[in-house]
Amino acid sequence: MNPIGIRIGMTSCHSLTTTTMRAAFHDSTKTSSRVLQRCRASQPRVIQRTFRAHRQTHQNPNNHRDPGLHWTSVLSFPQTVPGPAQVPSRGKQIQQLQQPDEEYDVLIVGGGATGAGIALDAASRGLKVACVERGDFASETSSRSTKLIWAGIKYMGSAISGLLSWKTLTHPVQSFQNFHDEMMMVYHCHVERRYMMTKQPHLCHWVPLVVPFYAWHLNPPPLGEPLFAFFPILAPLTFKIYDALSVFTCPSSYIITKNKAAHCFPQLQLHDLKYASVFYEAQHNDARTNLAIALTAADRGATIVNYVEMMDFVFDENKVVGAVVQDRMTGNEWIVRAKQVVLAGGPFTDALRQREVRQESSDPFQPAVEGASGTHIVLRGGIVPENLGLLDYRTRDGRFLFILPWQGHTLVGTTDQKDPAQTLHNVPEDEIEWLLEESQKYLALPEPLQRSDVLSAWRGWRPLAVDPHAPPDTAVSRDHIISEHPVTGVLFIAGGKWTTWRQMAQDVTDRVVARLSLDRKCETLEIPLHGAEGYSEGLWKQVISKYKDMDEGMAKHLVETYGGLVWEVLACGPGGKWDEQRLVPGYPYIDAEVIYACREYACTVEDVLSRRTRLAFLNKEAAQSAIRRVADVMAQELQWSPAVKKQQIAAAQNYIGTFLCIMFTATTLSDDSSSHAVSRSAELLSCAKTAVKIAQQQHPGQDGWWSTTTYLSLHSGITTSYPQLEEGLSLLRTMDVELQQLESLVRRRGHTNDPTELIALSVKRLETDAQELAALIQKMMPVHARGQLHKHWQCIQQWFQSTAQQQGTRLKNILKIRATVLAEQELRRQRFSVSAVKPTTFNHTSPLFMDSPVRPPQQNANATAQTSAQNGAHRTYGGAPSYYGGPRPTGYGGGYGSQSNTPYYQGPHHSVGMRQRRGLQHDTQQQETQQEQMMLQQRLQQRQTNQRLQEARQAERSLAELGTL
Ligand SMILES: Cc1cc2nc3c(=O)[nH]c(=O)nc-3n(C[C@H](O)[C@H](O)[C@H](O)COP(=O)(O)OP(=O)(O)OC[C@H]3O[C@@H](n4cnc5c(N)ncnc54)[C@H](O)[C@@H]3O)c2cc1C
Repeated sequence: MNPIGIRIGMTSCHSLTTTTMRAAFHDSTKTSSRVLQRCRASQPRVIQRTFRAHRQTHQNPNNHRDPGLHWTSVLSFPQTVPGPAQVPSRGKQIQQLQQPDEEYDVLIVGGGATGAGIALDAASRGLKVACVERGDFASETSSRSTKLIWAGIKYMGSAISGLLSWKTLTHPVQSFQNFHDEMMMVYHCHVERRYMMTKQPHLCHWVPLVVPFYAWHLNPPPLGEPLFAFFPILAPLTFKIYDALSVFTCPSSYIITKNKAAHCFPQLQLHDLKYASVFYEAQHNDARTNLAIALTAADRGATIVNYVEMMDFVFDENKVVGAVVQDRMTGNEWIVRAKQVVLAGGPFTDALRQREVRQESSDPFQPAVEGASGTHIVLRGGIVPENLGLLDYRTRDGRFLFILPWQGHTLVGTTDQKDPAQTLHNVPEDEIEWLLEESQKYLALPEPLQRSDVLSAWRGWRPLAVDPHAPPDTAVSRDHIISEHPVTGVLFIAGGKWTTWRQMAQDVTDRVVARLSLDRKCETLEIPLHGAEGYSEGLWKQVISKYKDMDEGMAKHLVETYGGLVWEVLACGPGGKWDEQRLVPGYPYIDAEVIYACREYACTVEDVLSRRTRLAFLNKEAAQSAIRRVADVMAQELQWSPAVKKQQIAAAQNYIGTFLCIMFTATTLSDDSSSHAVSRSAELLSCAKTAVKIAQQQHPGQDGWWSTTTYLSLHSGITTSYPQLEEGLSLLRTMDVELQQLESLVRRRGHTNDPTELIALSVKRLETDAQELAALIQKMMPVHARGQLHKHWQCIQQWFQSTAQQQGTRLKNILKIRATVLAEQELRRQRFSVSAVKPTTFNHTSPLFMDSPVRPPQQNANATAQTSAQNGAHRTYGGAPSYYGGPRPTGYGGGYGSQSNTPYYQGPHHSVGMRQRRGLQHDTQQQETQQEQMMLQQRLQQRQTNQRLQEARQAERSLAELGTL
């Protein structure tokens, strides 16, 4: 078929390749077959391929990444929603892409960092660009990185070590070549990092990384390289060379002594610490950077759209001349023609390349990408200081592990596991365990981190590249490869890093420009990304001065996310107090951002919660609790019908659910531990009250805790002259860490291990610390201090007192949260019990609750739940209302305080914890019956848990299948 023929064919086919054509494929009626035949006759190859794509999709309906959102045909994106900052709206972009007569210079498949980068580069060189992304921008690897724009210290280390090895004597040329290649890669990373830090300061910031050394010689050496055995001695020099490669444009590396480490990194394990080296990398919010690149590309004229999937290639003879694409919001399909097609599918590139393979071809398919999965976990903030990260270079299996402050939380990652790519996050439990264990090796935390401290976890797949035309045993590369199919002419790019997105895009576009015989130079080094204009470091202060009731945290978050476009976001605000606009308490995300996200091409609730904001990545539970609110706002903006909204909510719940391992939810429903926690709460509260009382004896002052710390460290002469000051400061710091720990403990909802004892321990420790601090303040003033010095000391003393009081108030608040959490748990439990049981009358008056202020309620269980919530969980959690002859649930075992559930139940319930210890008298028979019952109940629970476990495993398997393309 000649090119003209195919154009005519394609145009005629175009009118059929929308819903009509799709209906034809699914409908077996004669009319549909006729439509199909007509279409086949006019464009046989397109149809053959398109049909194949359809067949694949339908054979495995879970092929798509978002369960619940495929083939809906009911979702749409209204034309009326504008784009952000004069960028064309998503509706306009779709319209443009559907133009039947349009032929693009280049069509890019994939809108991750690489694909969006190519779109930007090509558009800025004046090419006519189309880019399609089947999910949201950065919905795959590019939102699941370690968030470092890094220059590859590890690669530099192995390059040097390789050069100094025996191999250099036997194969000198090869050795020098390897050294040169690795160092050039590190150098290029430095160039890219410099570009990001200088041109895109609204997206990136420096993060100093501490490398602690506990011995002068390491055995076994890190990364298995003998030279690294001397890393503790060589580190300062290595980091200086690293700085030099960046032409000293990054803050200079330095070393810190043990004493300094105790001051600036109080969480660090100090025992046996020799010293620590500190070097700098850059950090960013990867999904937002990806979006900024995509929107800048759109601004420069690229037609770039999310939720449009490439289904198949369009051939002219053997050459690829375009692709069949599908709008996943509506199900519409059409053809996009292009002179050059570029695949930037990250770890899914091979799945795309496979579609190039001609059925009649006998050549075996050569894969180009080797997937390696990496898991991250997110913990609360404060595990490392707010502005310092930690590099563990000696993990048990030789990987590098980063513990980084990120978005007010602690990010730990990553693992490295050979694994074919999947689209959902579900993380293997053993990787979470590994990360938890490794992350606390160098940390002296008040309590060991536990599984339930993990707020969110996700997994991404590195697109490690193998050149399909290279010899079989060639090593996979962390650098990128660009290759072209000799027959179809399709280009693909694989491998690389987030850091090098711009360089990768430049290399691909150079190839495209050369193929199109054009002479256009790359300009991206000079292009500021979306949001860079109007940004300055102090912009958040201007925001606060305009919006008086906005707090600093929210203003900083908005400025760091939207840069100079912050005003546009704020203008979307629905009005009222900013604090009331929060999507969830404790996080700076607001309604205005959801409205703005719709302009930024967000199509689903998942987009907003995972990538426009990063809530799901930070805290899965918080994200889940925000789903409805986000859906409400989006429904209004995007004119969703109630049915669509419902579908969106279900899909978001499904997706966000994968941010923690499914196994976890299923295996950790321990009721006994929860009821134990409940019965201990009164005891805990009284402990806490004592601690608060001690803290409240201090007088209020003016200064905040951190500002004064900075002040004091500036005048460090004072702290060295008066050791009690240092002592006081370190006490306060410890208390601060303890409080954070306590906070996360009380927020825990009794999933895994019962936190009660840990809470008690934590409160005890705080109590001791508070007493010690009070005594210290008493004797702090030097006996002979006079005049100014006297005043100075008074000031410091006052500040100590006020800080201690703040800590006390915080402790009180934390325990209030505890009461609320427990009340919530009881409500849920009550609801669960009621639905699963039938009521029975119970006439026993338990001596246990004779002194309880709660009287027997002759009411239903819902009302009981209400009472319990009102009275505070620590009183009602023993299940007191149901002990007084009112209707009482039976059936499901293990509800709080309602442990017995058999009809022959006679005696009082077994009650663990304090009440039991106070001396319940049971007669032997009763005890035996009870024991029997408990055993029965335990078996029942065991069975239920096993059943849930099986269900979870089944679900996990389905999800894994679902992710496999
Ligand atoms: C755990 C981990 C940690 C990392 N940490 C860092 C780090 O700290 N620093 C760093 O520099 N790099 C890091 N990386 C590497 C970096 O994240 C990746 O190199 C980069 O994100 C890859 O981007 P990409 O665009 O090539 O792939 P992706 O982001 O996966 O994009 C490919 C896109 O193609 C789309 N696609 C697939 N099929 C189709 C189709 N048929 N139609 C339309 N679209 C399609 C997918 O939906 C996807 O969005 C890390 C990687 C991992 C896995």
